[in-house]
Amino acid sequence: MIDRFSRTINYLRVSVTDRCNLRCRYCMPKEGLSLLGHADILSYEEILRVARAAISAGIVKVRVTGGEPLVRRGLIPFLASLSDTPGLSDLSITTNGILLEDCAEDLYAAGVGRINVSLDSLQHEKYRDITRGGDLRRALRGIERCRVLGFNPIKINVVVIRGFNDSETLDFASLAYYHPYHVRFIEFMPVGNAALEIGGSFISNDEIMEKINDRWRLEEDGPNRRIQDGPARTYRLKDGKGKVGFISAMSHQFCTSCNRLRLTADGNLRACLMDDREVNIKALIRNGANDRALEEEIRKVIADKPMGPPEDLCPSRRKKCARPMSTMGG
Ligand code: SAM
Ligand code: SF4
Repeated sequence: MIDRFSRTINYLRVSVTDRCNLRCRYCMPKEGLSLLGHADILSYEEILRVARAAISAGIVKVRVTGGEPLVRRGLIPFLASLSDTPGLSDLSITTNGILLEDCAEDLYAAGVGRINVSLDSLQHEKYRDITRGGDLRRALRGIERCRVLGFNPIKINVVVIRGFNDSETLDFASLAYYHPYHVRFIEFMPVGNAALEIGGSFISNDEIMEKINDRWRLEEDGPNRRIQDGPARTYRLKDGKGKVGFISAMSHQFCTSCNRLRLTADGNLRACLMDDREVNIKALIRNGANDRALEEEIRKVIADKPMGPPEDLCPSRRKKCARPMSTMGG
């Protein structure tokens, strides 16, 4: 479906849980966030209804995320049902990778072909520190398992923080040089309470790109790559096996090419990450709305999708928005 700014909206991100087995410092406080109760989150059946209505409205790509999606029980059969939906051409997942080694095979068999793993340090101590207790070896074993199984592409997402992991950007780039991974550098965004929990400071992707370009030559990955790949600017490293990408939500506005909708764990449909306006789709479902009514509501949300945060709600792109990232899936 085309919105009023001529953008094709074809991508839905679904947060299946706000729970997580890590506590990344930029995402969650150490005690976790006030967790939603079982009845507060959408059941898999409800998510399937929303996703299928969205597919009828023109969505062709769905990414399942969280919280940590792999901690929710029953995920694999849910993914298998979702991937069977006619009209869906691409099903992917974003995970911290901690539980990946054990379930990669089932994910693959369920129809998930593409995977994003978040990894903010390649040093054991630092990884443990930023995740508040995570074991880097487990995440790396999960990634390796996915490579062996044939997931393609495997994207590694790195949130870069000056004074914490900016010294590792060349190490991450060399991961993309020697392996067929897409390493994507993500600018920290002050959403939810994130800004309060983080040490270090903001670093722009332009600075990181310059550093990598000095070491390896960055080559544009096709003329229209930026539009095809959503918000990431993607490059090849000369003679390298993988790619690097830059998701620069703070320093470069990419709203003109934004193609996505979000379904939050507690059942709200959200058209813009930085705009707190949402439609309570859970209430509609639980009040008996039929599939046609759901699709109509989704079409309305697409039609009203803003071009960036509205002035009255988010006067500055740097102002944090209220909802924590873990409930809306990054
Ligand atoms: N738990 C999974 C994971 O970590 O990949 C999926 C959910 S997580 C909220 C999705 C993505 O959002 C991760 O890549 C994470 O690094 C990113 N993220 C979380 N908080 C962020 C923030 N304040 N700024 C930028 N990215 C953030
Ligand atoms: Fe959990 Fe992902 Fe947030 Fe880290 S970024 S706390 S892994 S939801």
